[in-house]
Amino acid sequence: MSHELALEFLPSINLGQLCCPLCATLFEPWSTVALLDDGDVPMGYLCERCFMTGPHAAAQTMRERTLDLRGFVLRARTNLTQPAWLKLLLAMQERIDHWDLLADRVDQLSWWQLKGSDSDHGSAA
Ligand SMILES: [Zn+2]
Repeated sequence: MSHELALEFLPSINLGQLCCPLCATLFEPWSTVALLDDGDVPMGYLCERCFMTGPHAAAQTMRERTLDLRGFVLRARTNLTQPAWLKLLLAMQERIDHWDLLADRVDQLSWWQLKGSDSDHGSAA
């Protein structure tokens, strides 16, 4: 059982346009895609930029995104009634916390790990 963030390389067959789970960039996959797994839970396909620039740069991009989201919530306050704004604040806070937490975890990686590379050496049948 692992709760590590790890990459799995898969052939991309008719996947169409993908959205990176870290920086939210839309991209067209190449012939091979890197699926980011959180333990046994697939999170999405990593874009080429996050893959090439590594976890620290990806974490930085995610933090910039949460800053943008916070700014958006603050600006929305002038256009919304108090109850509507509080509703927005609560909804966004959950997303922001999620991204901040994920950014922290990504930032702790020295580089992307391949899934299963540090555990058993199962034979491919
Ligand atoms: Zn990305």
